[in-house]
Amino acid sequence: MLTNDQLALWDRENFFHPSTHLAQHARGETTTRIMRGGDGVYIEDRDGTRFLDAFAGLYCVNVGYGRPEIAEAIAAQAKELAYYHAYVGHGTEVSITLAKMILDRAPSNMSKVYFGLGGSDANETNVKLVWYYNNVLGRPEKKKIISRWRGYHGSGLMTGSLTGLELFHKAFDLPLPQVIHTEAPYYYRRPKAEMTEADFTAHCVAELETLIDREGADTIAAFIGEPVLGTGGIVPPPAGYWEAIQTVLRRHDILLIADEVVTGFGRLGSMFGSDHYGIEADIITIAKGLTSAYAPLSGSIVSDRVWKVLEQGTDALGPIGHGWTYSAHPIGAAAGVANLRLIDELGLVSNAGDVGGYLNRTMREALADHPNVGEVRGEGMLCAVEFVEDRDTRRPFDPARKLVPQMAATLLAQDRVIARAMPQGDILGFAPPLCLTREEADKVVEATVRAVEATL
Ligand code: PLP
Repeated sequence: MLTNDQLALWDRENFFHPSTHLAQHARGETTTRIMRGGDGVYIEDRDGTRFLDAFAGLYCVNVGYGRPEIAEAIAAQAKELAYYHAYVGHGTEVSITLAKMILDRAPSNMSKVYFGLGGSDANETNVKLVWYYNNVLGRPEKKKIISRWRGYHGSGLMTGSLTGLELFHKAFDLPLPQVIHTEAPYYYRRPKAEMTEADFTAHCVAELETLIDREGADTIAAFIGEPVLGTGGIVPPPAGYWEAIQTVLRRHDILLIADEVVTGFGRLGSMFGSDHYGIEADIITIAKGLTSAYAPLSGSIVSDRVWKVLEQGTDALGPIGHGWTYSAHPIGAAAGVANLRLIDELGLVSNAGDVGGYLNRTMREALADHPNVGEVRGEGMLCAVEFVEDRDTRRPFDPARKLVPQMAATLLAQDRVIARAMPQGDILGFAPPLCLTREEADKVVEATVRAVEATL
């Protein structure tokens, strides 16, 4: 068996890690925790140390680790037929079955699923579909996409542009000119302390209207948003936000893409975030929870309204010139079918609402009096703790002096709990598998209190 030292050397010499400070890693200032197994909410590293993974990998292992039902479905599919494509006139039983299962669960205005591999490529697909849609309708100038600051939609050229986080733009010449950003619905960081949630929603709507007026509605194709901002800080929207935004979009004939890569398949305690917030999207992006990350698979669920135009368009323009070799990969589809069955059988959507609500309540109560905890917020099985230097003014810590969430996450890991220092702002994030129990939620909260007290 390879020693840890040998693997660490090979890792440093050969492996290009995503989203990593390469120079620090090369200097040995960061180390790679090598994972080897898991069951339920627990994951184990090579040394046999067990962690409660309160971030479900990258908020994706929704049914938990080590589920034999999914592993067996993948193995059976690989033995029977590991691959066949889905291009014109071809398909596989398992991918057609999965499309039906997704549509059975999706909001009623949805019509078809286009399969991809991950959230980024699904959002690339969505932008192309929206562009195609407007070309078919004879409005070639209606192409810009509105996204929110702090939104996360992937890290391709278009999707990295849609993502509203500085790290994903600077040094890559992004965003592309077709992407324009609007205010994040981030009530804690509202511009004036005295604003109510309703005031702040009105402010976000006014900002959106100003942007649409400035650019011209006839140049704007779509608005993309996560029902709850995820990577940008785990931020549920203020009251009335989605209803008010949709009113504006409808008035200007701007399509709505709900990016449900994190919220799809139960994380908020509803099957989709769209159900949760009354969002009637034109396209829904799905990935992570679709297979609980047992295999890569994503999808763009397209509404009746969009589908009809696409279908009609192919008569005029010919076949859709867009496809991946691995669209609807049978092994991913097998994982998806087994995963969706398991979510139903284990009642994980309601568990996410129940235990997620408990996690959020207990976390809020446990940290209520801490002078450097500005806010504990969340929805369903998503929870965030935002740290501030001054609670009254909400003044953040100077990032050059104190990396509070990183320090807290390191201490939590020493206490065998994995949480995530979110990439922007002093925010510690939690997104456990949907099978978390109340006892496990207690462990997460207790470890967080210890880590926060030791950090600050
Ligand atoms: N959309 C959302 C909301 C996400 O959170 C992510 C990834 O975290 C993506 C898209 C991109 O997905 P992927 O990393 O699979 O490309």
